[in-house]
Amino acid sequence: MPITVCGPACTTDNKNNGRSCGDPQRSYVGAVLGTYERNGYDDSDFLAVVWDGEQVTTREYASTRGWTYHNHATVDATEQVRVAAEAWYRDRLLAHLVAVAREHATAPRVGRRVRSLTRRGRHVGVTGQIRWIGPDRYRRDGGQRVGIAVPGEDALRYLPARSVTVLDPEPVDEQRLRGHAATARPDWRHALQDLTAHGHPTP
Ligand SMILES: [Zn+2]
Repeated sequence: MPITVCGPACTTDNKNNGRSCGDPQRSYVGAVLGTYERNGYDDSDFLAVVWDGEQVTTREYASTRGWTYHNHATVDATEQVRVAAEAWYRDRLLAHLVAVAREHATAPRVGRRVRSLTRRGRHVGVTGQIRWIGPDRYRRDGGQRVGIAVPGEDALRYLPARSVTVLDPEPVDEQRLRGHAATARPDWRHALQDLTAHGHPTP
């Protein structure tokens, strides 16, 4: 069964007396990849992960916010849909893994050489090595500060981590990520969240 929701012609009698739906509306026939429940503080929503012909997306089919007892969804994806959805997912997974790995490789860390990106003041254009990194007490957004050792100077220079660029980023092993993405088997309940998650690319 695909996604089935209660249509406008379903009667109050059907709803109030526990009868089956008088106007079931079916959609995404053969295209439901997974289902999951999203629990809120007071309510729960029920979602189906579907292939819409071009991409994997989600559709809410029921919710405790309203009367949705006639609605349901069942995983029914055809082999053809699964193949298309997996290919779509693997493409995006690779792009995501590469982006996360690049972000990780270029993040300021102790030991890395950096150049200041500031345009005014005494730090313009200076390069040095990060010796300290910690919370930026001047910022409330969780930003960080770095202390860099500049050749020929005794004291560290402190500046916002976002104001430096790393000069010696680690190389990103795209071949390895490509291999990982090519064999990934998505768990459709979490697959879309996985594509936007941050953190280490290594599973
Ligand atoms: Zn109904």
